[in-house]
Amino acid sequence: MKKIIVVLIVALFSVSSLAVAETQVADMKGGRFLEMDGLTAEFFIEKDHYVSLTFHNDKLERVPVTSQVATLTADAPSGKKKIEFETKGGSLFSKEPLPEGHGYNLIVQLKHGAASKPKNFRIPFETSLCRECGKAEYACSCEGH
Ligand SMILES: [Zn+2]
Repeated sequence: MKKIIVVLIVALFSVSSLAVAETQVADMKGGRFLEMDGLTAEFFIEKDHYVSLTFHNDKLERVPVTSQVATLTADAPSGKKKIEFETKGGSLFSKEPLPEGHGYNLIVQLKHGAASKPKNFRIPFETSLCRECGKAEYACSCEGH
């Protein structure tokens, strides 16, 4: 009997997590989530190595860019490079692609309005896919790597 209950609970949990996954897939790209005052920014490296930041509220609804400001510093082999962002279609897009190479660190600074305290995120620029979750390594949150 105990076993049946456990199975039922597991089944219930997997159904609800599936529903969440589906709403995420509809509007999200599979990037890395950066938390800032009540908003989640999805950090995504596009195929051409431009970076996009799309913002969502705590209900996973998309929020257009208003006063969010981002800057990125790429600690590339060719030297440190600062990249600025511009608003396009409600999201922030980098004005230029990431420098050549990969395996270096990116530091993303997010601000919500000029007066707010900036928040820094360090993200390794690694685009190979994780075998466990299928996401690019920079977006992967699997344990152990
Ligand atoms: Zn993973």
